[in-house]
Amino acid sequence: MEKVQLSGKLSFSRIVQGFWRLTEWNMPTEELVRLMHGCIERGVTSMDTAEIYGGGECERLLGLAFKQDSSLRDQIQLVSKTGIFRHEGAGYYNTGYKRVVQSCKESLQRLQCDYLDLYLIHREDPCFDPWETAQALQDLKKEGLILEVGVSNFDPFKFDALNTAMGGTLVTNQIEWNPLCFEHFSSGMMDVLAKLKCPPMLWSPLAGGRVFTGQDEAAQNLRQVLAPMAQAHNVSEATLIFAWLLYHPVRALPISGSRSLARLDDAIAALDVQLEHWEWYRLYTASGQMHLR
Ligand code: NAP
Repeated sequence: MEKVQLSGKLSFSRIVQGFWRLTEWNMPTEELVRLMHGCIERGVTSMDTAEIYGGGECERLLGLAFKQDSSLRDQIQLVSKTGIFRHEGAGYYNTGYKRVVQSCKESLQRLQCDYLDLYLIHREDPCFDPWETAQALQDLKKEGLILEVGVSNFDPFKFDALNTAMGGTLVTNQIEWNPLCFEHFSSGMMDVLAKLKCPPMLWSPLAGGRVFTGQDEAAQNLRQVLAPMAQAHNVSEATLIFAWLLYHPVRALPISGSRSLARLDDAIAALDVQLEHWEWYRLYTASGQMHLR
């Protein structure tokens, strides 16, 4: 498995395994341990969670797996995130000093781990003081509780604000990008990441399954292009989408969200697909959302 160097201290597997849906999987701890070993055997050693997933339950379940098999933690790079909360059913963000420090310590407790390899601010916060958030993240680094820092879903302005306050040390922006979502091409975020040589992590690379099952016009348009192209390459449609994401020079790290190792194999197979340059543009425009001028 190809590795991507995110900093002098940290490299990630090119394909990452995500656990957002873990609480829906009703998976006994033994099965989760087997799934994590299956990922590691395939070289998929970087794994993603967040404190908000299942209201802390996702981290707790991963913690049970780390406790059951103490060999697991050292073999992986573990990502978690903070910043999204709920109060009486309504969501809000908090990226203040005390909250970030406390959240990290609570995540580590639930995960039954001593440190996180990567800690992300989960969403851009309209009530955001980048200097205060940066101080919290720097202090967590100094304490050895987190190795590196990144963000998720940030626009170029907030990314630049926190990156400046952090002395240019943000290692990623975890963003949504798939053939049905181009928000970060439109915002200019992809260009900022390319300029900084900062590889994004990609969430919902298959649009959460919508690329296969969506009945909306964009999804139907996409499938008309995807099916013959996948056939021509003799790969699954999922593999072709991962190949398309991997092709871009920004060196993105797609996060597979499936519970199935067979579907993870589909993602890994993309590393061997040779796309033609024109094919990338065919998929870029396939859903009808993006046009070439
Ligand atoms: P995804 O890989 O786009 O979607 C996974 C979903 O698609 C699963 O429910 C899977 O079902 C289904 N699927 C896969 N192949 C399929 C097929 N051929 N036909 C029909 N359905 C198919 O990724 P995701 O789960 O949405 O997101 C991946 C990870 O990104 C998450 O686990 C999380 O770590 C991260 N994430 C981050 C944010 C953020 O704001 N930073 C937001 C969302 C997610 P099966 O399990 O049955 O295969």
